[in-house]
Amino acid sequence: MRLYNTLTRSEEPFAPLRGQQVRMYTCGLTVYARGHIGNFRTFVCLDVLRRALKYLEGYDVRQVMNYTDVDDRTIVESQKAGQPLREYTDQYIAAYLEDAATLGLEIVEETPRATDEANLRAMTEMVQALEKNGHTYRSDGSIYFKISTLPQYGQLARLDHAGIKPGARIDSDKYDKENARDFVLWKATTPDEPTWDFGAGPGRPGWHIECSAMALRLLDGAPIDIHAGGVDLVFPHHENEIAQAEGATGEPFCRFWVHVEHLLMGEGEKMSKSVGNVFTVQDVLAKGVRASALRYVLLAVHYRKQLRFTWASLAQADEALTRVMDCLARLDAVTRAGAHDDLTAKVASARKGFAEMMAADLNTPGALGVMFELVRAVNAAIDAGQIGADDVTAIRDAFDGFDRVLGVISVRRADDAAPPVPVEGIEKCIDARKAARARRDFGEADRIRDELAERGIVLEDSAQGTRWKRK
Ligand code: AMP
Ligand code: ZN
Repeated sequence: MRLYNTLTRSEEPFAPLRGQQVRMYTCGLTVYARGHIGNFRTFVCLDVLRRALKYLEGYDVRQVMNYTDVDDRTIVESQKAGQPLREYTDQYIAAYLEDAATLGLEIVEETPRATDEANLRAMTEMVQALEKNGHTYRSDGSIYFKISTLPQYGQLARLDHAGIKPGARIDSDKYDKENARDFVLWKATTPDEPTWDFGAGPGRPGWHIECSAMALRLLDGAPIDIHAGGVDLVFPHHENEIAQAEGATGEPFCRFWVHVEHLLMGEGEKMSKSVGNVFTVQDVLAKGVRASALRYVLLAVHYRKQLRFTWASLAQADEALTRVMDCLARLDAVTRAGAHDDLTAKVASARKGFAEMMAADLNTPGALGVMFELVRAVNAAIDAGQIGADDVTAIRDAFDGFDRVLGVISVRRADDAAPPVPVEGIEKCIDARKAARARRDFGEADRIRDELAERGIVLEDSAQGTRWKRK
């Protein structure tokens, strides 16, 4: 399989370093809010990478995907909510798991939280190794990484060393390339912030050290095979991860860096909480969209190209999937025995074409194209009566193979198995319940809630209002 490696800015043949096992680290969600569909573009694309490595290339994949449950944003938001950090982030981990299951993401081998004690200890040990190797200094109770001590600093983001200001330092987790500075490893805390001390002094980890330490701890040392995330992580997050891991171990940290381009809203803005143009998976489903259509849209553009999200594209994706499902359903009616050479050849060439597309740096739109070519060929064969039971078996096998990687047909089957929900009706019930509560008619409010529960719809009340989900 060929994969584009951000480190070399080129497509390279990929094979794991140690035997048949791919050791892969994916930066997971910062659990200060429910993930949006931009986050899930990255997660779905990386799920497909994982599946291609397993089911097409035949590797054993060991994947770590962390939850960033302590950083600038989680601390601020938990304080605003008046909840302890761990309790505050719990709810967004649960929400992530729900959305991930809805979109058919495979469960990965390890999902560490940064605040797990074993991870905090690993971070502390990394900070101590960096201190020992002369890459740090302490100031105002915090420990900083001194970038001028590492000649290779800037290798991933291709920083121009002339532009780096020596001596200046930065405390925040996120900053831009123009502000390449000494960055914080272990941060002094105020009395109202969560604080740990496992030997580096009281404080809390900076965002970047979390991933370096968890990757090396859970993937059995450097160099790991693949490190992945959205393209916004190239700098500073991944650059700093390399600096920390290499400064601490003296070994190259990671062989392949894979970055997924952004999902943008129709107008071309990056979807992000700070812009305020955010839709969650649940927001999309609440408009009556099937999860399978969303997964399809997130895969229909190559992962290294920006994806402009539109509502119309969801409707088109749903129609496209309906064509696949209709074609598969038509196979049930084939009763004649035997196989047809022409169709046998088309199935074989579709399987081959599909694998080639995926091996070419994960060309998902190309692979979908191959799948639809086969849909057309099968429909034509059924129309012409040129299909037998052996063809049907081979065709079903081929689609099963495609779907082990793309995962859109299985999610569509799960969608169709769920009870049909008239979205407008639910919204009306929620409004009626709100009105009942406003006039303090709690009996009526509870009756509406129970009635919805019987139809498989649960309501969740929060400060932002009431949202619903399928049971
Ligand atoms: P965060 O929760 O901000 O740490 O992001 C989790 C993952 O989602 C990271 O890999 C980000 O790079 C990725 N991400 C954030 N915004 C977008 C977006 N608009 N499109 C695609 N990926 C994104
Ligand atoms: Zn990370």
